[in-house]
Amino acid sequence: MSMTCDTCAAACCRLEVPCIGDHDIPERLFETDAAGNRRMRRLDDGWCAALDRTQMNCGIYAQRPLPCRELALGGPECLAARARLAEDAGPMV
Ligand code: SF4
Ligand code: SF4
Repeated sequence: MSMTCDTCAAACCRLEVPCIGDHDIPERLFETDAAGNRRMRRLDDGWCAALDRTQMNCGIYAQRPLPCRELALGGPECLAARARLAEDAGPMV
């Protein structure tokens, strides 16, 4: 069976997403790291503040930052994010 985002709980939306010049994104969705760089704000559970929690997909899809546009389904970042999410979820009971 081929991999699809449809059955993934937005694992890649727990990654750190640096933002440079993403001016169409509401300011409340950003945060600044210790070095003063802007990135997408993440909530306490690790997911991006822009995630649509009802659909578990991007709530600002048309305006999403470049790193989100460039992340490839099935690529190294995708696979690592999926593995990390599965690990964080713990063993299935
Ligand atoms: S790109 Fe990969 S990690 Fe991101 S939603 Fe799709 S399958 Fe999940
Ligand atoms: S901006 Fe959208 S695609 Fe990028 S991490 Fe946040 S919710 Fe995911």
